[in-house]
Amino acid sequence: MSNPDRNHTLSDAVLLQPVESIKGVGPRLARRLQAKGLSTIEDLLFNLPLGYLDQRGGIQISRLSVGDYVSFVATVLSGREVRYRRRKIFEVILSDGTGTVTAKWFHYGRWLTQRFRNFKGSVRVSGTLRIFGRQLEIHHPELEEIDTDVDKESGGIVPRYSPIAGVAPRAYRRIMQEVVTTFVPQVPETLPGGVRDYFELPRLQTALRQVHFPDELPKSQRGHQLSPGLRRLIFEELFFLELQIIRSQEALARETGHSMALERDFLRRVGKLLPFTLTQAQKRVMREIAADLGKKRPMNRLVQGDVGCGKTVVALLTAFIAIANGFQAALMAPTEILAHQHSINFKPYADALSIPLTLLTSRLKASEKHMRTEAIASGEARLIIGTHALIQEHVAFQRLGLVIIDEQHRFGVLQRMTLRQKGGSPHVLVMTATPIPRTLAMTVYGDLDVSVIDELPPGRTPVETRIIEAKHRKKAYDLLRSEFSQGHQAYIIYPLVEESEKSDLKDVTTMTDHLQSEVFPDIQLATLHGRMTPEEKQAIMAAFADRKLQLLVATTVIEVGIDVPDATVMVVEHPERFGLSQLHQLRGRVGRSSHRSYCLLIHEGGGVETRQRLAILEQSNDGFQIAEEDLRLRGPGDLVGIQQAGFVDLKLANLVRDANTLTAARRAALTLMQKDPDLTKPAHAAIRAKIERQSLRAAELLKTS
Ligand code: ADP
Ligand code: MG
Repeated sequence: MSNPDRNHTLSDAVLLQPVESIKGVGPRLARRLQAKGLSTIEDLLFNLPLGYLDQRGGIQISRLSVGDYVSFVATVLSGREVRYRRRKIFEVILSDGTGTVTAKWFHYGRWLTQRFRNFKGSVRVSGTLRIFGRQLEIHHPELEEIDTDVDKESGGIVPRYSPIAGVAPRAYRRIMQEVVTTFVPQVPETLPGGVRDYFELPRLQTALRQVHFPDELPKSQRGHQLSPGLRRLIFEELFFLELQIIRSQEALARETGHSMALERDFLRRVGKLLPFTLTQAQKRVMREIAADLGKKRPMNRLVQGDVGCGKTVVALLTAFIAIANGFQAALMAPTEILAHQHSINFKPYADALSIPLTLLTSRLKASEKHMRTEAIASGEARLIIGTHALIQEHVAFQRLGLVIIDEQHRFGVLQRMTLRQKGGSPHVLVMTATPIPRTLAMTVYGDLDVSVIDELPPGRTPVETRIIEAKHRKKAYDLLRSEFSQGHQAYIIYPLVEESEKSDLKDVTTMTDHLQSEVFPDIQLATLHGRMTPEEKQAIMAAFADRKLQLLVATTVIEVGIDVPDATVMVVEHPERFGLSQLHQLRGRVGRSSHRSYCLLIHEGGGVETRQRLAILEQSNDGFQIAEEDLRLRGPGDLVGIQQAGFVDLKLANLVRDANTLTAARRAALTLMQKDPDLTKPAHAAIRAKIERQSLRAAELLKTS
């Protein structure tokens, strides 16, 4: 028998080969692929098609179904620019003798007009078929002139990949053809035979071949009928996710941390400083946390609670327990704005108790940053609040006893681990407002214990949510005016920062001008969006919190965590652009005091379905229920909520659609870890190699982020 270890290194090498090793890929092409994150053979193999085109002969226009992604050959009858109201559109009329389809571009470069204005000949057209009145249309199709080269390729089922700048779809398909023929036969198998047999999964090589170049059109990629190849790759992804979760869980169980005493006197002093008493739910969660802190095993707890339930004070108290025990406590927030807000909120308490507080964000001046990292390393700083800057390599702590991560859904599992590694097994507290359907929580969080704050502070009246038709926008403005006159503040959210040629959506920049000059001339307002520098954002937020501004015209940057009690109105334009959970988060920015608050969703177009979806927000204020409705309505085929929330970095699997596969993968992973906890058996070499590759890659990602 050959040496298995040598075997593994050899086979592993195939996947790590650079794209330049593919025949026909030179440095230029390689750079373009790399720009899309495709550097190795493995990257290419796991960049799966979005769908497939049926290019088998004889596809006739008259037989196409509206709503499908279609591909057919047709003759160009005419190409011209036409005007619709204020905008120009480029139209190409296509026919194959059985029917006519109009291709339309709403934004386009000069190359398109030049190419098709006087074009004579045939093209292959691919895109989603729509119908308007009685006219069949395809917007922004992929067009390929028919030449001998294409004919060679056509006559089969061809994969359709996500577009890559500077690489024609046809060229990319040729690369993939080459990769599948030359490299796939050397790809090592990762799943043990027993697992494959039990779950009826094809071998990896077969799966890859099938997924890129299937013999038959997969029946329905949208529904539950995944092709066996895809099912296998999804299983694999989830299997490795579960392996990591289980391994980190076990590693954690073996760690010993710092047992911390409750320091009741100290807590009483902090309690006296608070302007309110804790709710029952907050007290219960504090007891759970205190119990964890008292143990030798490091805490690893998630606090879930709807927006506005008061998670911040829980973080504050926990931090103070750790500090009273002689440790440093670090709080990591997902945005600069939020980190600043926390530091402003915590400052009075820290000052009153003589606890040195340090804020660390990446945009500080180098000299300032240096001073602060020194203070963190020397232990002079006790309470440290920051952004991602905290997990950078050069940041070292003197005696880190507690790590708190706010709005966990903005951070990956990995970042959580990295911050944890900054101290000798610190306690970890994670806070999130993103509700996870209970069925999934276990498998996704895996290693976390969960506490729930299921009660809002007293005196809150639920935010009154109304859908307003765009033509009645004036009503919204009237309400805003009346609130401003009572000294209250408001937000208006738009989906875009600047005007875009590509859409009719309203944007922050144009609307700010309009609102200031035409609608609220005597109101102090300002814009807030992600393209501003952190200093600018900070200054605006501070002015808003100080009530120097009454209205913030913003994008969703204000979505997370912002807490300004006098803000009573949240207006969202184009609410159909956002998920329900996201709207719920936005709504959570108001209703943070006993003032009556409003959320106005300005509904324009979008039809009955959107309207019904939005109506859920009128009826419910419960984040969990809203999240579940969101999932139900958008259907399991859609990647919503949890997945985008970035708890886990999944490319193929959809935690809702693939819930059963997840359970199966977890079972398989548990069995494997029982049999071979350190993955030292030769049969598991490929698994170990893949885990090593994944963690290497993760470490690199962290460095560059
Ligand atoms: P979130 O859970 O969304 O992070 P915050 O911690 O920002 O919520 O709290 C929202 C608001 O409620 C803050 O203004 C905070 O001061 C206030 N708050 C928190 N706990 C209580 C309480 N027990 N009683 C009254 N107000 C509270
Ligand atoms: Mg918060």
